Amino acid sequence: MHFEFDESLALIRSSAREFARREILPQATEIDRSGQIPRNILQGLAELGMMGVAIPEAWGGAGATPIAYVAAMIEIAKACASTAVTMAVNNMVGEVLLRFGSEAQKERYLSKLASGQVLAASFALSEPESGSDPGSMRTTARREGKGWLIEGQKQWITSGDFASFFIVWARTGGNDPALQGPRGISCFIVESQAPGLSIGHHERKMGLRGSSTVALHFEKVWVPEDALLGELHGGFKIAMSALDGGRIGIAAQAIGIAEAALEEAIEYAKERHAFGRPIADYQAIQWMIADSRTELDAATLLAYRAAFLKTQGRPFTREAAMAKLFATEAAWRVVDRALQIHGGYGYVAEYDVERHYRDVRVTRIYEGTSEIQRLVIARSLLRGQI
Ligand SMILES: Cc1cc2nc3c(=O)[nH]c(=O)nc-3n(C[C@H](O)[C@H](O)[C@H](O)COP(=O)(O)OP(=O)(O)OC[C@H]3O[C@@H](n4cnc5c(N)ncnc54)[C@H](O)[C@@H]3O)c2cc1C
Repeated sequence: MHFEFDESLALIRSSAREFARREILPQATEIDRSGQIPRNILQGLAELGMMGVAIPEAWGGAGATPIAYVAAMIEIAKACASTAVTMAVNNMVGEVLLRFGSEAQKERYLSKLASGQVLAASFALSEPESGSDPGSMRTTARREGKGWLIEGQKQWITSGDFASFFIVWARTGGNDPALQGPRGISCFIVESQAPGLSIGHHERKMGLRGSSTVALHFEKVWVPEDALLGELHGGFKIAMSALDGGRIGIAAQAIGIAEAALEEAIEYAKERHAFGRPIADYQAIQWMIADSRTELDAATLLAYRAAFLKTQGRPFTREAAMAKLFATEAAWRVVDRALQIHGGYGYVAEYDVERHYRDVRVTRIYEGTSEIQRLVIARSLLRGQI
């Protein structure tokens, strides 16, 4: 058993760290304020291979492993959580294409996304009436000529306003009773220019303000036969397998945000004086710091374990859910303590911890809420998978 990074992992982590510190961190406040990530940051990340960390080099990616992805994601999220989620969605879409796409789909979409020829793609699963329960989605696709006609609405779509293409899930079972719920769903690639597709409401969010979150409207959007991704009616499995990997990414994102908050809290505690001494001298502050470091280390080990299993091609659904559940809940506590250590200054935008506090909250919600992670973990145990 090894707890050390090998040379290639250390290299990916240090290149992500260096880019994050040099190019992203100095702009993080402005990204949050303006609601936009500068194009050169996304381009720079793609040039480093960060938009397709585990995608083979032949398809424009870094050709690294899911373990390297965790390491890189922590570093990027430490600088800017909005940039990190944009990277996370691109990587998730890339992995869906790698695993389920035809050679032609990989050629047309994957290599462009991983290499940065296109800046973003979106993962369009959630709808206004179905988030935790995607099997109840309402968007439909029915055959029309030599293709499909998609109608419906998607909600909460990250990067949806500047994505070049979308991975979209829709019901393809019609009225067939055997194809209701999760069984009658298929997956399509829809280009942003497709007639009938329009960008709807932009969410005004508590945090992650640099990342855009929009609704998508599909009004008779026609896509050709070869837009079908994977098997007909096989879309639910694709979504679940993508979310397994995505959850490791969100665990890493939460860890990165909390790492930044903890570092800042330690520095602040050493500088801030109360009752004639640095507040770091007080046991109450020391315990908060000690608990935070311990919980973050545990979260990091869980994330790397899930990534290790994925790298080995072994089942990792439960481990990814455990990593996401623990890391996001722990990160929330760590950032809350960091804000507490900053006192009143933690509550104002002058200090970055205020941004981390807003940013970290959503990690307990998206890519499956904490309640859904518990459900996944419990189901696997109750099925006897020990
Ligand atoms: C900023 C942001 C970005 C997002 N980006 C994307 C994206 O790019 N693509 C995409 O497809 N989606 C995206 N989402 C959607 C996100 O994945 C959903 O919000 C999430 O899955 C929860 O769904 P919901 O909001 O409909 O909540 P609901 O499913 O309505 O849940 C409401 C509450 O009920 C609980 N609950 C539901 N079912 C159960 C159950 N069986 N047992 C116990 N409790 C339960 C939930 O845990 C939650 O507390 C994003 C969301 C946000 C906020």
